[in-house]
Amino acid sequence: MRLAVFGIENDGLNRAVSVLLLCIVVIWLALVWWTYADARRRIEDPMLIGCATLASLIFPFIGTIVYMIVRPPEYLDDVRERALEIAAAQARLQELDPACPYCGFEIEKTFLRCPSCLRRLKEPCRTCGRPLDPRWKICPYCESEIGQVAPSAQQRRRPRRQPTTAGGRTAIDDPTIARAAPPPTGERRPPSRDS
Ligand SMILES: [Zn+2]
Ligand SMILES: [Zn+2]
Repeated sequence: MRLAVFGIENDGLNRAVSVLLLCIVVIWLALVWWTYADARRRIEDPMLIGCATLASLIFPFIGTIVYMIVRPPEYLDDVRERALEIAAAQARLQELDPACPYCGFEIEKTFLRCPSCLRRLKEPCRTCGRPLDPRWKICPYCESEIGQVAPSAQQRRRPRRQPTTAGGRTAIDDPTIARAAPPPTGERRPPSRDS
């Protein structure tokens, strides 16, 4: 039995129109699939992906064209990758060029005071004078304890830990220990920077 498409009776023309209709249907279904696959790479919300796919199914071609106009311009992978890159760059920047927490001036990790606003950034070790991280319990450079021991008491206690040298000189006479007198500390402020 012959299928008369659009009431066309001519056999050849009828077949041509059938093939054309079949092509259109195939392209339509392919566009529905493409819309679904593309939306999945660009949209996170499964609800929106379903809406886009449904629109291209209900409104052949028109739905897909509208989706192409309103779809997000970027793939989700690219968005995530860029977010990661930005975070990594910020972390690198933070590590390379720390800024003064008070005025934002570019400082180095070893600075005790900000050269721009003159505020104290870190406390110096009472024994060796090197900058201390607020989280440290001891000075990693000279092994002295931080905070609790007053410098004078610390110096009195030192000879007990260090044996007298061969010449009968105690460690207190030693010039290397003499250098360990606490540096002038200036204004004392609890370290507020956690870095
Ligand atoms: Zn500053
Ligand atoms: Zn020290």
